[in-house]
Amino acid sequence: MMRMKPKRPLPMDLQLKSGRRLSLPSTEPVFCAPGLLVQPNVPKPMHGTNPRTVLGAAWWDRERSAAKAANNNCCHACGLPAHRNQRAGCGLEGHERYEITYSAGRVKYLGTVALCNWCHAFIHCGLLVMHVRNKTRTQLQAMRIMRTRIELLHAADFTPHMHELMAACELGVISARELPGLAVKARRQEADRSVSAAPWGAWRLEIQGKLYEGKFPTKQDWERAYK
Ligand SMILES: [Zn+2]
Ligand SMILES: [Zn+2]
Repeated sequence: MMRMKPKRPLPMDLQLKSGRRLSLPSTEPVFCAPGLLVQPNVPKPMHGTNPRTVLGAAWWDRERSAAKAANNNCCHACGLPAHRNQRAGCGLEGHERYEITYSAGRVKYLGTVALCNWCHAFIHCGLLVMHVRNKTRTQLQAMRIMRTRIELLHAADFTPHMHELMAACELGVISARELPGLAVKARRQEADRSVSAAPWGAWRLEIQGKLYEGKFPTKQDWERAYK
């Protein structure tokens, strides 16, 4: 009977026959930050306005590459290495992070993180629900994305954002009964925000201290584009 050799970890430094030492880059994540998965949606007045459209493709490529290198080409949220992700047909994706101040109407760019396709799909779960409705993603895969990421958050002691829980409900991952008062709470949260939020035209995207206007001057312009 053939016996399997036990797997040995790959050394980070190899001594070549010539005597030269070869240093291999690590494929392990430097950090995992599941908390990155808990994010509010970008408010409607700022839809379609982001650093990559404002600062251009060359800037976006540099920013994305730096984010990937910062964690040895591993997902910043779950730690999955890009080479394993690529086997599933996709590499790491750049995701812009923001700090949102509703009363002032400010969406401040904080930086870009590199995420695997599933973590990125979880953050943009509204889009994920739309993909399932349009049959561009299967319900089963969407359910797996939501469940595994909610479990990841739970293990790290984070509570998913309300809109993430709502998407999980809509996709049938959790039932509304599991979350008593969910709908009421979500509606109240939404109402609180719209009362305190700045008027449509006051919203600006802030990048390195500079302010940029939104793509849609009025709510009607937004509705024409998205509905
Ligand atoms: Zn990930
Ligand atoms: Zn993103």
